[in-house]
Amino acid sequence: MVVREQIAGRPPADTADGPVLLSPPDVGPLEESYLLNAVRSGWIAPVGPEIDAFEREVADRVGRAHAVALSSGTAGLHLALLALGTRPGDVVVVPTLTFVATANAAVYTGAEPIFVDCEPETGNLDPALLEQALHVLRRAGRRVAAVLPVDMFGSCADYERILPICASAGVPVVEDAAEALGAVRDGRPAASFGEMAVLSFNGNKIITTSGGGMLVSDDAELVARCRYLATQARQPVPHYEHLHTGYNYRLSNLLAALGRAQLRRLDGMLVRRRAHRDRYAKLFGATPGVRLLADQEAGANCWLTSIVVDPQAAGWRAADLARHLAARNIETRPVWKPLHLQPVFAGADRVLSGAAERLFADGLTLPSGSGMTEDQAARVAAAITDFLDRR
Ligand SMILES: *Cc1c(COP(=O)(O)O)cnc(C)c1O
Repeated sequence: MVVREQIAGRPPADTADGPVLLSPPDVGPLEESYLLNAVRSGWIAPVGPEIDAFEREVADRVGRAHAVALSSGTAGLHLALLALGTRPGDVVVVPTLTFVATANAAVYTGAEPIFVDCEPETGNLDPALLEQALHVLRRAGRRVAAVLPVDMFGSCADYERILPICASAGVPVVEDAAEALGAVRDGRPAASFGEMAVLSFNGNKIITTSGGGMLVSDDAELVARCRYLATQARQPVPHYEHLHTGYNYRLSNLLAALGRAQLRRLDGMLVRRRAHRDRYAKLFGATPGVRLLADQEAGANCWLTSIVVDPQAAGWRAADLARHLAARNIETRPVWKPLHLQPVFAGADRVLSGAAERLFADGLTLPSGSGMTEDQAARVAAAITDFLDRR
């Protein structure tokens, strides 16, 4: 029944037994007033002052010089690869533990994704395996267009190791920070790593424009190239003149207004997401065989909190808890199914350790939304305590 609520796109009903969803949009009166002002301003198209302001505010927040607001994070990843000159026959290195969009962006350009496994502790791209993959690709004479590390569930990847490895191989890095706005690593904000970074404002992300994304970089030329491609590659002349194949990838001015309101509330949202993580850490603290994914990552934005269950030590499986919670109208989800296991990528090359497959088998993502009420959080806690008491 939880699934049906989501497909229908209805907001969570905050009733005693209404669904508790994983990460629904957290939108209120501030968003309403920003949107209304944007509508009344007459700037309804994918151009206007809200877009300019939203781009500047996000760029400032993540410490980048330039930004272009887009219709989705997927569009941002696609444009980033195009701007780097990615072409058919190239290879793009993608973590196997990620949302499908990271690899699809490579496929859109005609390049082949190659899947690299993750660190078991964090679910993030394993730097040692990345180095191995780049070595093998170089020996095979393949051109590697880019590496796309993902900041898994809002914990930044290990850029202290990844960036030097990529630099010495001469391969650019595009940070897939779709899940990571507000996170920090080593004092640097998420989306500040690599040649370019991409954020998502999809409905389930840390802030939302209902659908949207942004590409950020310190390189003005790369961002200008992406802006041009995102605007149908239209030449600056009065008639429609096109030298390249472009895309319709811009964000609407109305949605940028929604994003600006969300950005103003970001810090408060982060506090609430972190409180959920702390609560889960306490709930499972004394349970043998259970740990939090990326539990050592102090700078994580806690977009989603997942537990990892060792069935031998715990005496139960992640799926058992999922069933128990689903019966109480509480939504959970396995961590990403590794992309090398997806039928659509059946033939793709891979460098694996088995870590992502184990996280897929043993991981469970718990309700983490910043809009979760105290009553809902208490209901989730009671249901988990009840489950653990029966074991
Ligand atoms: C959400 C997400 C995307 C895609 O973002 P959209 O805005 O939904 O297109 C890309 N990569 C990762 C890791 C994501 O979680």
